[in-house]
Amino acid sequence: METARREGWAIAEKAGGTPYTLVSFHAHPDDEALLTAGTLARAAAQGHRVVLVVATAGEAGLAATTSFGSRGLAGRRMAELRASAAVLGCARVELLGYGDSGMDAERDRADNPFAFADVDEAAARLAELLREERADVLTTYDAAGGYGHPDHRQVHNVGARAAELAGTPVVLEATVDRDVLCRALRVVRRLRHIPADFDPVRFATAYSPRSTLTHRVDVRRYAMHKRAAMAAHASQASADSLPRTLGIFLRLPRLMFRTVFGREWFIERGRAPMSRLLDDIFATLREDTA
Ligand SMILES: [Zn+2]
Repeated sequence: METARREGWAIAEKAGGTPYTLVSFHAHPDDEALLTAGTLARAAAQGHRVVLVVATAGEAGLAATTSFGSRGLAGRRMAELRASAAVLGCARVELLGYGDSGMDAERDRADNPFAFADVDEAAARLAELLREERADVLTTYDAAGGYGHPDHRQVHNVGARAAELAGTPVVLEATVDRDVLCRALRVVRRLRHIPADFDPVRFATAYSPRSTLTHRVDVRRYAMHKRAAMAAHASQASADSLPRTLGIFLRLPRLMFRTVFGREWFIERGRAPMSRLLDDIFATLREDTA
């Protein structure tokens, strides 16, 4: 939170109630910033313990073929992840140690690629950490794996199994309300400086429709934390290759950024979709103790 304090946008929240432990599981460094950063910052500011886990170091990401090489890029991306975690107030960052499968997931391209890992074996690694942390909530991804990256779909499967093994009571699948996403992307495309090859149409089947969601978390107060978390992943924002999505988001004017990224969506496993979405990721735990 040092940066946050220096920048003057650290937020004092009333702790109130039981402090919970939230483990947020992601495929690659920078995924935490896009899908869950506001929720993590809000939970940390409210006094909950927040732990960040990535399956891979993201060594197949942008810039892998340019100046760093995949090994150099892995180190750089983990450092960026730690910087992002510090901004968000995370207490711990862990790497499961799988290889980044890349978007086309060729089995031989990475060392022990996560997308091809045995689900039970990977889940056992994550479950060990969940037990050690006595995690109350685990965040994963929706069944589509967001926009369909094979490592993201694997986060969904491995996360669900790990929570079963460790008895973690609440699993929240991070996603985006597809209707909102498509609307936002149409606006983004109208802005200047957007590459012509940035095609919102590919998001039309990504993430999850509104009718399947359980949570819409208001993180507008944490928009600047989220922006700083994204900015921490500079190797992915500035690389001179596609899709540069992060760079596009960071060029949004601050007020528009707050509007576009001020909400985060989740599907709680085992909870029926709701017409009125929940704002509190700990709602089930509070209901159980009430
Ligand atoms: Zn990813």
